[in-house]
Amino acid sequence: MIMTQTTKDDSLQRAKDYVDGVFKTVQERNPGEVEFHQATKHIFSSLVPVFAKHPKYMKNGILERISEPERLITFRVPWVDDNGNVQVNRGFRVQFNSSIGPYKGGTRFHPSVNASIIKFLGFEQIFKNALTGQPIGGGKGGADFSPKGKSDNEIMRFCQSYMTELVNHIGPNVDIPAGDIGVGAREIGFMFGQYKRLRGAYEPGVLTGKDVRFGGSLVRPEATGYGLIYFANHMMHDLGLTFEGSNVVVSGAGNVAIYAMEKAMELGAKVVACSDSSGYIYDEQGINLETIKRLKFSGNGQVASYLDEHPHAVFHDNCAEIWNVPCDIALPCATQNEIDADIAKTLIKNGVKVVAEGSNMPSNQEAIDLFNESHILFGPAKAANAGGVAVSALEMAQNSMKLTWPFEKVDKKLHEIMLNIYHNAVNAAEEYGYPGNLDVGANIAGFIKVGDAMIREGVV
Ligand code: GLU
Repeated sequence: MIMTQTTKDDSLQRAKDYVDGVFKTVQERNPGEVEFHQATKHIFSSLVPVFAKHPKYMKNGILERISEPERLITFRVPWVDDNGNVQVNRGFRVQFNSSIGPYKGGTRFHPSVNASIIKFLGFEQIFKNALTGQPIGGGKGGADFSPKGKSDNEIMRFCQSYMTELVNHIGPNVDIPAGDIGVGAREIGFMFGQYKRLRGAYEPGVLTGKDVRFGGSLVRPEATGYGLIYFANHMMHDLGLTFEGSNVVVSGAGNVAIYAMEKAMELGAKVVACSDSSGYIYDEQGINLETIKRLKFSGNGQVASYLDEHPHAVFHDNCAEIWNVPCDIALPCATQNEIDADIAKTLIKNGVKVVAEGSNMPSNQEAIDLFNESHILFGPAKAANAGGVAVSALEMAQNSMKLTWPFEKVDKKLHEIMLNIYHNAVNAAEEYGYPGNLDVGANIAGFIKVGDAMIREGVV
């Protein structure tokens, strides 16, 4: 008995030393890339019990390989603005891992985009995509371009220039970009048009998130937000909690936030606050989603204008303070690192019961630790927001079959996928000694699928 315990302790220590060693290399090889370090450290630390139990992953150098992108492409994106001035942005595409399928992941246009942001997103995407059960590898792209205040023509010229370089690196069986912050159906349309022209072929499977009139899938616009609510609902169900009658706060007012609000409301929740970069609104009667949709889907409207139609609501110009609003269920759907330890403490003090992440890496490690210690139900991004990329994979499937599935069929598949992800995360957490910890469970379940494929495909 004592011997067994000692052996177990030894293998855990060996696994921990291995993980620390590889993480040190990641830090040294990618200096200053704080978001990438944060994402790798977070996932690496979840994997210690896996390496302790199965040394084959260490022997095959899986961690060393999985944390080094297969390819990182950086390129100049020159374009001419409406005043005739030449502008230059920097474009990126990280092709992180192709062991279980072609590279797949979104495209972010935001001034904050740099190699660290793209690599953290691409790294997360490997595990998220594996969790969906679909045959898709991990990738991500974007540019440090701000779509804010740009005319349609400027957006078109930018997208065309971005694609003029990207066309050399993507294809329906190679790498399939989609949207993310700052990239929606309009941008995907412009990029698809340019790809088609440069290739001289109609290959709808090269991009997902397309308009339904040229190969887009029904439910894709709603998929991340709806999937988030399906996932949260499954977590809550096991504890006897429901959306019905709950107070919900959703940060953000983009695609993910809007459809998360829609589905939460459909299930009987009252969504009392949402935000954008200008600030947040609080409506104690419950947010009117039609107004938000009108403001956000048609041009450059800000949530502050909500008060024009609903004067009883309140606007605060600091979006980070949205988390001071007491709620039962918190759904961060804005961007990375919006929930730190202080905000987590405020949420816990105000009685939050559930936190489910719609955006990528919204909570930092300290915040996640606090949620776990306080037994808050926590749905980690790579599981809870995987519905978007899952339906992207269904869009690719429809494109290769040259047919379109009805809304109900795609929605049902999305539902099943989210339930599967939930069960896989629960089971992995249980098996590796972290019962109920979906964060660790999701990291482990995603890793094992990719790691096993990498072993079988040899050292490539
Ligand atoms: N950008 C989304 C994500 O973070 C969707 C990616 C896709 O559909 O390829 O997962």
